[in-house]
Amino acid sequence: MKCAVCHRTAKGYGWFNPRVPRTDPSRYSDKWVFCSRRCQEAFCKLMTKTEGQMIDPSDMEIAAMQGCLGPLGEYVGSIGMQRPLADYSREEVLRLIDVVVTTYQDRMLDEHERMAAQDRAFLEQRLATQAAIRQQGRV
Ligand SMILES: [Zn+2]
Repeated sequence: MKCAVCHRTAKGYGWFNPRVPRTDPSRYSDKWVFCSRRCQEAFCKLMTKTEGQMIDPSDMEIAAMQGCLGPLGEYVGSIGMQRPLADYSREEVLRLIDVVVTTYQDRMLDEHERMAAQDRAFLEQRLATQAAIRQQGRV
């Protein structure tokens, strides 16, 4: 099981939607598991802010991926910007992967916390936009 926020291995932290009645199975989801209290709290705050509706996670994923560009560039710069990837040693490739994956996980958590801290108006607007997109998808 992977943490719903940062995709690290989940460690027994869960969440349920208190707005859904106990008898409704959608109150719980085995997708809502977390690696740490920090991820659990970020998710919980965000769900509370959005009244149980999830923000499109792909927005956060895009932001997290964009957040990897800086550290990726720094690492590649540190080992030689002009070197082709085929010349990298196994250790250099593994380090490159580690830089990107670690940054991505950290940024996903940052994004959840940032979104949870946003104004309610911003979140409502984002949810309205998503609803409009879903509506268009059905036409
Ligand atoms: Zn996590």
